[in-house]
Amino acid sequence: MGNEFVGGIEAGGTKFVCAVGTGPDDVRAEARFPTTTPDETIGRAVAFFHEQERRHGRPAAIGIGTFGPLDPEPSSPTFGYITSTPKPHWANVNLAGAIRAALDVPIGFDTDVNIAGLGEWRWGAARGLSNFIYLTIGTGVGGGVIIDGKPVHGLIHPELGHIPLPHDRMADPYPGRCPFHGDCLEGMAAGPAISERWGQSAAELSPDHPAWQLEAHYLALALQAFICTLSPQRIILGGGVMEQAQLFPLVRGQVQKYLNGYVQSPAILNDIEDYIVPPGLGNRAGVLGALAQAQQVIAGE
Ligand code: ADP
Ligand code: ZN
Repeated sequence: MGNEFVGGIEAGGTKFVCAVGTGPDDVRAEARFPTTTPDETIGRAVAFFHEQERRHGRPAAIGIGTFGPLDPEPSSPTFGYITSTPKPHWANVNLAGAIRAALDVPIGFDTDVNIAGLGEWRWGAARGLSNFIYLTIGTGVGGGVIIDGKPVHGLIHPELGHIPLPHDRMADPYPGRCPFHGDCLEGMAAGPAISERWGQSAAELSPDHPAWQLEAHYLALALQAFICTLSPQRIILGGGVMEQAQLFPLVRGQVQKYLNGYVQSPAILNDIEDYIVPPGLGNRAGVLGALAQAQQVIAGE
Protein backbone atom coordinates (compact mmCIF):
# COMPACT_ATOMS: atom_id res chain seq x y z
CA MET A 1 0.00 0.00 0.00
CA GLY A 2 1.35 3.42 -0.94
CA ASN A 3 1.06 6.93 0.39
CA GLU A 4 -1.02 8.49 -2.37
CA PHE A 5 -3.04 11.66 -1.88
CA VAL A 6 -6.57 10.42 -1.19
CA GLY A 7 -9.87 11.36 0.43
CA GLY A 8 -11.77 9.81 3.30
CA ILE A 9 -15.25 10.03 4.77
CA GLU A 10 -16.25 8.87 8.22
CA ALA A 11 -20.03 8.78 7.93
CA GLY A 12 -21.48 8.66 11.43
CA GLY A 13 -25.05 8.68 12.63
CA THR A 14 -24.55 12.12 14.18
CA LYS A 15 -21.77 13.65 12.10
CA PHE A 16 -19.74 13.27 8.92
CA VAL A 17 -15.98 13.83 8.95
CA CYS A 18 -14.26 14.36 5.59
CA ALA A 19 -10.53 14.67 4.98
CA VAL A 20 -7.89 14.68 2.27
CA GLY A 21 -4.25 13.76 2.74
CA THR A 22 -1.78 10.92 2.67
CA GLY A 23 -1.80 9.80 6.34
CA PRO A 24 -1.92 10.95 9.99
CA ASP A 25 1.01 13.38 9.62
CA ASP A 26 -0.29 14.86 6.39
CA VAL A 27 -4.01 15.62 6.64
CA ARG A 28 -4.26 18.68 4.38
CA ALA A 29 -7.86 19.56 5.09
CA GLU A 30 -10.66 18.26 7.26
CA ALA A 31 -14.32 19.19 7.73
CA ARG A 32 -17.04 17.95 10.04
CA PHE A 33 -20.75 18.62 9.80
CA PRO A 34 -23.95 17.10 11.22
CA THR A 35 -25.67 14.15 9.55
CA THR A 36 -29.04 15.49 8.37
CA THR A 37 -30.79 14.35 5.19
CA PRO A 38 -28.80 12.36 2.61
CA ASP A 39 -29.15 15.12 -0.02
CA GLU A 40 -27.85 17.85 2.24
CA THR A 41 -25.12 15.80 3.94
CA ILE A 42 -23.76 14.13 0.80
CA GLY A 43 -23.96 17.55 -0.90
CA ARG A 44 -21.71 19.03 1.77
CA ALA A 45 -19.23 16.18 1.41
CA VAL A 46 -19.11 16.62 -2.36
CA ALA A 47 -18.62 20.40 -1.97
CA PHE A 48 -15.72 19.75 0.43
CA PHE A 49 -13.96 17.44 -2.05
CA HIS A 50 -14.52 19.84 -4.97
CA GLU A 51 -12.97 22.64 -2.92
CA GLN A 52 -9.98 20.46 -1.96
CA GLU A 53 -9.51 19.40 -5.58
CA ARG A 54 -9.06 23.07 -6.50
CA ARG A 55 -6.53 23.59 -3.70
CA HIS A 56 -4.55 20.37 -3.55
CA GLY A 57 -5.41 18.37 -6.67
CA ARG A 58 -7.57 15.40 -7.27
CA PRO A 59 -7.59 12.56 -4.71
CA ALA A 60 -6.71 9.25 -6.34
CA ALA A 61 -9.57 7.49 -4.51
CA ILE A 62 -12.01 8.10 -1.67
CA GLY A 63 -12.59 5.69 1.20
CA ILE A 64 -15.89 5.67 3.06
CA GLY A 65 -16.50 4.15 6.48
CA THR A 66 -20.16 4.41 7.40
CA PHE A 67 -22.80 3.43 9.90
CA GLY A 68 -24.82 0.53 8.57
CA PRO A 69 -25.95 -2.07 7.93
CA LEU A 70 -24.58 -1.70 4.42
CA ASP A 71 -23.64 -3.68 1.34
CA PRO A 72 -19.83 -3.98 1.05
CA GLU A 73 -19.81 -6.58 -1.77
CA PRO A 74 -18.49 -4.95 -4.98
CA SER A 75 -20.26 -7.45 -7.28
CA SER A 76 -23.66 -6.85 -5.68
CA PRO A 77 -26.28 -4.61 -7.37
CA THR A 78 -26.66 -2.73 -4.08
CA PHE A 79 -22.91 -2.33 -3.43
CA GLY A 80 -22.32 1.00 -1.72
CA TYR A 81 -25.79 1.25 -0.22
CA ILE A 82 -26.67 1.81 3.40
CA THR A 83 -29.42 -0.82 3.62
CA SER A 84 -31.78 -1.52 6.55
CA THR A 85 -30.79 1.24 8.95
CA PRO A 86 -33.54 2.47 11.27
CA LYS A 87 -32.03 5.98 10.95
CA PRO A 88 -34.70 8.20 9.33
CA HIS A 89 -34.07 9.08 5.63
CA TRP A 90 -30.98 6.85 5.34
CA ALA A 91 -32.36 3.39 4.55
CA ASN A 92 -31.52 2.23 1.00
CA VAL A 93 -29.31 5.22 0.23
CA ASN A 94 -26.60 4.72 -2.39
CA LEU A 95 -23.90 6.63 -0.54
CA ALA A 96 -20.88 5.30 -2.45
CA GLY A 97 -22.68 5.72 -5.78
CA ALA A 98 -23.55 9.35 -5.07
CA ILE A 99 -19.94 10.19 -4.16
CA ARG A 100 -18.58 8.33 -7.19
CA ALA A 101 -21.05 10.01 -9.55
CA ALA A 102 -20.15 13.48 -8.27
CA LEU A 103 -16.37 13.08 -8.05
CA ASP A 104 -15.53 10.36 -10.58
CA VAL A 105 -12.87 8.56 -8.53
CA PRO A 106 -12.60 4.95 -7.31
CA ILE A 107 -14.48 4.41 -4.04
CA GLY A 108 -13.86 2.12 -1.09
CA PHE A 109 -16.86 1.35 1.11
CA ASP A 110 -17.12 -0.50 4.42
CA THR A 111 -18.49 -0.29 7.95
CA ASP A 112 -17.28 2.52 10.21
CA VAL A 113 -15.72 -0.03 12.55
CA ASN A 114 -13.99 -2.10 9.86
CA ILE A 115 -12.53 1.15 8.56
CA ALA A 116 -11.45 2.38 12.00
CA GLY A 117 -9.82 -1.03 12.48
CA LEU A 118 -7.98 -0.61 9.20
CA GLY A 119 -6.68 2.78 10.39
CA GLU A 120 -5.45 1.18 13.61
CA TRP A 121 -3.74 -1.59 11.64
CA ARG A 122 -1.99 0.87 9.35
CA TRP A 123 -1.02 3.60 11.81
CA GLY A 124 -2.31 2.82 15.32
CA ALA A 125 -2.48 0.18 18.04
CA ALA A 126 -2.70 -2.84 15.73
CA ARG A 127 0.40 -2.37 13.56
CA GLY A 128 1.98 -5.68 12.62
CA LEU A 129 -0.94 -7.83 13.79
CA SER A 130 -2.56 -10.40 11.52
CA ASN A 131 -5.81 -10.81 13.46
CA PHE A 132 -7.50 -8.29 15.75
CA ILE A 133 -10.83 -6.64 16.47
CA TYR A 134 -11.88 -3.02 16.90
CA LEU A 135 -14.98 -2.28 18.97
CA THR A 136 -16.75 0.99 19.51
CA ILE A 137 -19.00 1.47 22.52
CA GLY A 138 -20.92 4.65 21.77
CA THR A 139 -24.44 5.43 20.60
CA GLY A 140 -24.41 1.82 19.44
CA VAL A 141 -21.92 -1.01 19.72
CA GLY A 142 -20.07 -2.03 16.57
CA GLY A 143 -17.13 -4.26 15.85
CA GLY A 144 -14.69 -4.59 12.97
CA VAL A 145 -12.63 -7.70 12.35
CA ILE A 146 -9.34 -7.30 10.48
CA ILE A 147 -7.46 -10.34 9.18
CA ASP A 148 -4.14 -9.82 7.39
CA GLY A 149 -4.88 -6.14 6.84
CA LYS A 150 -8.29 -6.79 5.28
CA PRO A 151 -11.67 -6.13 6.91
CA VAL A 152 -13.69 -9.32 7.15
CA HIS A 153 -16.81 -9.64 5.01
CA GLY A 154 -18.91 -12.73 4.49
CA LEU A 155 -22.61 -13.05 4.15
CA ILE A 156 -22.56 -9.27 4.74
CA HIS A 157 -20.21 -8.01 7.47
CA PRO A 158 -19.73 -8.90 11.14
CA GLU A 159 -22.27 -7.49 13.63
CA LEU A 160 -20.38 -7.90 16.87
CA GLY A 161 -22.68 -5.46 18.67
CA HIS A 162 -25.71 -7.72 18.33
CA ILE A 163 -24.56 -10.92 19.98
CA PRO A 164 -26.81 -12.31 22.73
CA LEU A 165 -25.52 -12.02 26.29
CA PRO A 166 -26.31 -13.97 29.45
CA HIS A 167 -28.78 -11.71 31.28
CA ASP A 168 -29.57 -12.22 34.97
CA ARG A 169 -32.85 -10.34 35.26
CA MET A 170 -32.80 -10.55 39.03
CA ALA A 171 -29.49 -8.72 39.21
CA ASP A 172 -30.27 -6.36 36.31
CA PRO A 173 -33.96 -6.01 35.44
CA TYR A 174 -33.24 -3.48 32.65
CA PRO A 175 -34.82 -5.06 29.53
CA GLY A 176 -32.40 -3.65 26.94
CA ARG A 177 -33.18 -1.25 24.11
CA CYS A 178 -32.13 -2.84 20.82
CA PRO A 179 -35.18 -2.53 18.54
CA PHE A 180 -34.34 -5.93 17.02
CA HIS A 181 -33.16 -8.00 20.00
CA GLY A 182 -33.84 -6.18 23.25
CA ASP A 183 -30.99 -7.33 25.47
CA CYS A 184 -28.19 -7.99 22.96
CA LEU A 185 -24.78 -6.41 23.65
CA GLU A 186 -25.75 -3.07 22.06
CA GLY A 187 -29.14 -3.14 23.79
CA MET A 188 -27.49 -3.57 27.19
CA ALA A 189 -24.14 -1.78 26.99
CA ALA A 190 -24.26 1.15 24.51
CA GLY A 191 -24.28 4.70 25.94
CA PRO A 192 -28.06 5.21 25.66
CA ALA A 193 -28.68 1.90 27.51
CA ILE A 194 -26.48 3.04 30.39
CA SER A 195 -28.30 6.39 30.55
CA GLU A 196 -31.73 4.77 30.43
CA ARG A 197 -30.91 2.07 33.01
CA TRP A 198 -29.58 4.55 35.56
CA GLY A 199 -31.79 7.52 34.70
CA GLN A 200 -28.79 9.76 34.22
CA SER A 201 -26.56 10.61 31.28
CA ALA A 202 -23.72 8.04 31.01
CA ALA A 203 -21.16 10.83 30.69
CA GLU A 204 -22.28 12.29 34.03
CA LEU A 205 -22.18 9.11 36.15
CA SER A 206 -19.31 9.31 38.63
CA PRO A 207 -16.31 7.02 38.04
CA ASP A 208 -17.13 4.95 41.12
CA HIS A 209 -20.82 4.48 40.23
CA PRO A 210 -21.92 0.79 40.17
CA ALA A 211 -22.91 1.35 36.53
CA TRP A 212 -19.31 0.79 35.49
CA GLN A 213 -18.98 -2.59 37.23
CA LEU A 214 -22.08 -3.75 35.38
CA GLU A 215 -20.83 -2.25 32.11
CA ALA A 216 -17.50 -4.05 32.51
CA HIS A 217 -19.38 -7.28 33.20
CA TYR A 218 -21.31 -7.10 29.91
CA LEU A 219 -18.29 -5.99 27.89
CA ALA A 220 -16.19 -8.80 29.36
CA LEU A 221 -18.86 -11.40 28.54
CA ALA A 222 -18.82 -10.15 24.95
CA LEU A 223 -15.02 -10.14 24.76
CA GLN A 224 -14.96 -13.69 26.11
CA ALA A 225 -17.18 -14.70 23.19
CA PHE A 226 -15.00 -12.85 20.65
CA ILE A 227 -11.77 -14.27 22.09
CA CYS A 228 -13.16 -17.79 21.90
CA THR A 229 -14.55 -17.41 18.36
CA LEU A 230 -11.93 -15.24 16.64
CA SER A 231 -8.75 -15.62 18.73
CA PRO A 232 -7.81 -11.96 18.15
CA GLN A 233 -4.23 -10.93 18.91
CA ARG A 234 -5.47 -7.63 20.36
CA ILE A 235 -8.80 -5.97 21.20
CA ILE A 236 -9.14 -2.22 20.70
CA LEU A 237 -12.01 -0.53 22.56
CA GLY A 238 -13.06 2.95 21.40
CA GLY A 239 -16.19 5.11 21.42
CA GLY A 240 -17.63 7.63 23.86
CA VAL A 241 -18.35 5.18 26.69
CA MET A 242 -14.69 4.13 26.82
CA GLU A 243 -13.82 7.73 27.76
CA GLN A 244 -14.47 6.26 31.23
CA ALA A 245 -10.86 5.14 31.60
CA GLN A 246 -11.65 3.17 34.77
CA LEU A 247 -13.50 0.69 32.54
CA PHE A 248 -10.27 -0.68 31.08
CA PRO A 249 -8.89 -2.31 34.25
CA LEU A 250 -12.39 -3.50 35.19
CA VAL A 251 -12.91 -5.13 31.79
CA ARG A 252 -9.45 -6.70 31.76
CA GLY A 253 -9.97 -8.23 35.19
CA GLN A 254 -13.41 -9.59 34.30
CA VAL A 255 -12.15 -11.08 31.02
CA GLN A 256 -9.43 -12.97 32.91
CA LYS A 257 -11.98 -14.13 35.45
CA TYR A 258 -14.51 -15.37 32.87
CA LEU A 259 -11.92 -17.10 30.68
CA ASN A 260 -10.71 -18.78 33.87
CA GLY A 261 -7.27 -19.71 32.54
CA TYR A 262 -8.64 -21.64 29.59
CA VAL A 263 -7.04 -19.60 26.80
CA GLN A 264 -3.38 -20.22 27.56
CA SER A 265 -1.77 -17.12 26.11
CA PRO A 266 0.63 -14.76 27.91
CA ALA A 267 -1.29 -11.90 26.24
CA ILE A 268 -4.25 -12.71 28.45
CA LEU A 269 -2.59 -14.31 31.47
CA ASN A 270 0.28 -11.82 31.96
CA ASP A 271 0.09 -8.86 29.58
CA ILE A 272 -3.56 -8.00 29.41
CA GLU A 273 -2.77 -4.24 29.66
CA ASP A 274 -1.36 -4.56 26.13
CA TYR A 275 -4.14 -6.84 24.96
CA ILE A 276 -7.29 -4.80 25.70
CA VAL A 277 -6.34 -1.25 24.75
CA PRO A 278 -7.73 2.12 23.62
CA PRO A 279 -7.26 3.17 19.98
CA GLY A 280 -3.75 4.40 19.15
CA LEU A 281 -5.30 7.01 16.85
CA GLY A 282 -7.87 8.11 19.46
CA ASN A 283 -11.05 9.45 17.91
CA ARG A 284 -9.29 9.89 14.54
CA ALA A 285 -9.20 6.16 13.75
CA GLY A 286 -12.32 6.41 11.57
CA VAL A 287 -11.33 9.22 9.24
CA LEU A 288 -7.70 8.09 9.01
CA GLY A 289 -8.87 4.55 8.33
CA ALA A 290 -10.89 5.91 5.41
CA LEU A 291 -7.65 7.34 3.94
CA ALA A 292 -5.95 3.95 4.46
CA GLN A 293 -8.84 2.23 2.74
CA ALA A 294 -8.65 4.57 -0.26
CA GLN A 295 -4.96 3.71 -0.57
CA GLN A 296 -5.84 0.00 -0.49
CA VAL A 297 -8.34 0.58 -3.30
CA ILE A 298 -5.61 2.16 -5.45
CA ALA A 299 -3.26 -0.72 -4.68
CA GLY A 300 -6.00 -3.13 -5.77
CA GLU A 301 -5.84 -4.89 -2.40
P1 ADP B 1 -21.15 7.88 18.06
O1 ADP B 1 -21.48 6.54 18.59
O2 ADP B 1 -22.38 8.69 17.71
O3 ADP B 1 -20.15 7.87 16.95
P2 ADP B 1 -19.65 8.34 20.50
O4 ADP B 1 -18.72 7.21 20.27
O5 ADP B 1 -19.07 9.62 21.05
O6 ADP B 1 -20.46 8.75 19.22
O7 ADP B 1 -20.75 7.83 21.51
C1 ADP B 1 -21.73 8.63 22.07
C2 ADP B 1 -22.31 7.91 23.28
O8 ADP B 1 -21.28 7.71 24.23
C3 ADP B 1 -23.42 8.65 23.97
O9 ADP B 1 -24.53 7.76 24.07
C4 ADP B 1 -22.91 8.94 25.37
O10 ADP B 1 -23.85 8.49 26.31
C5 ADP B 1 -21.68 8.13 25.51
N1 ADP B 1 -20.58 8.94 26.06
C6 ADP B 1 -19.97 10.00 25.49
N2 ADP B 1 -19.01 10.50 26.30
C7 ADP B 1 -19.02 9.73 27.42
C8 ADP B 1 -18.27 9.74 28.63
N3 ADP B 1 -17.32 10.64 28.87
N4 ADP B 1 -18.55 8.79 29.52
C9 ADP B 1 -19.52 7.87 29.31
N5 ADP B 1 -20.26 7.82 28.20
C10 ADP B 1 -20.02 8.74 27.26
ZN1 ZN C 1 -29.38 -6.07 18.71
